[in-house]
Amino acid sequence: MSNSDWQQRKQNVFARGMGNMLPVFVDRARNAEIWDVEGKRYIDFAAGIAVVNTGHSHPDIVAAVKQQVEAFSHTCIMVTPYANAVELAEKLVEAAPFDDGRVVFVSTGAEAVENAVKIARATTGRPGVIAFGGGFHGRTNLCMGLTGKVVPYKKGFGPFTPEIFHVPFPAEYLGVTADDSLAALDQVFKNDIEANRVAAIIIEPVQGEGGFYPVPDGFLSRLRDVCDQHGIVFICDEIQTGFGRTGTMFSCEQDGVQPDIITLAKGIAGGFPIAAVVGKQAVMDGPDPGGLGGTYAGSPLGCAAGLAAMSVIEKENLCARAVDVGEKLREGLERIRSKYPERVGDIRGRGAMVAMELVCDGQVGQPDAELTRALVGEAAQRGLLLLSCGVRGNVIRILAPLTIPFDHLEEGLGILQESFAAC
Ligand code: PLP
Repeated sequence: MSNSDWQQRKQNVFARGMGNMLPVFVDRARNAEIWDVEGKRYIDFAAGIAVVNTGHSHPDIVAAVKQQVEAFSHTCIMVTPYANAVELAEKLVEAAPFDDGRVVFVSTGAEAVENAVKIARATTGRPGVIAFGGGFHGRTNLCMGLTGKVVPYKKGFGPFTPEIFHVPFPAEYLGVTADDSLAALDQVFKNDIEANRVAAIIIEPVQGEGGFYPVPDGFLSRLRDVCDQHGIVFICDEIQTGFGRTGTMFSCEQDGVQPDIITLAKGIAGGFPIAAVVGKQAVMDGPDPGGLGGTYAGSPLGCAAGLAAMSVIEKENLCARAVDVGEKLREGLERIRSKYPERVGDIRGRGAMVAMELVCDGQVGQPDAELTRALVGEAAQRGLLLLSCGVRGNVIRILAPLTIPFDHLEEGLGILQESFAAC
């Protein structure tokens, strides 16, 4: 059966809301290579949206999961817990920037965010949450409310959880400075909700779906000060930036800031659906026993995969490798920009989270979403899997596995350049 046969079958049974970017049906994958059902090979610059930081089917993760599934696959941590959940929680607490960290396991990124906000509300007894324009935090009701982009994430799905307010994300490329952003926050405190009724401020240290904008230097510290001044819980959403992706285990480390809570998913377990909320004990222990968790929270398979993934990140020095991968990607994108200066605007990111903005006539204000779509399609035809992002739909983002061999990285960049020539 071909990709198009499968695509047809998929369309016959899947609801329209579960779209897919590319009609590439995966047969198998190893490290940074994917083969589709027709036997065609691709270089993977998407990593399942920053999930397989350790590469597809890393042998250590495969072995750990096999061993766990043979022992037992599920009992429910809230009924009869098991050792590997405690071990993974210990590892996360050790890796996270807290002296007295506490962990809640869930299954997806959206649930991690949802639970972080629940914890902040329960602990402070306050309703308000501040999020940032262009941010993405997931598809559950509360997370949609926090998310900035309307189409397709929010359109038709309201009403959303009340008491959520947005301020512009400081993206200097788009003309929004850190001062502008903080001034907007002050306005929210004046006009919408008093600061002492705000439970949490949530931010991505590098805005992911919104366009790969890293926060400006010093911005997180300034937010930390605002939170300290008003007793607000400071949440860093590290779901896309975590687990070595930006060159450190968690991206907020590079900003020299200790949030109160970080939300984790994606790279936590190399492809197994497990997620976590990690934070300071005084904040995390607000909710009553039983108020957090779920049937699959911290599944033993996810915990086995998570422990193996964390040990791969350590053993293979993947934080340092993310920096090298990022540098090579930037060099490659600069080469492309020098050939197509009228089409490539900004090149930005942090570590191995790298993106380029596609524009018409080299103009910042002229996003080229059409070229972006065409380029993603053309690259796939030529054997490179890419993702787009950005509120304006004109950003090509690269999230290759951190383990990608450098010859595959160069091969991917070569295909990207050829795709530009063909579009
Ligand atoms: N937060 C951020 C920063 C994300 O990038 C994502 C997913 O892309 C989410 C939350 C939601 O995660 P999930 O899709 O696992 O629910």
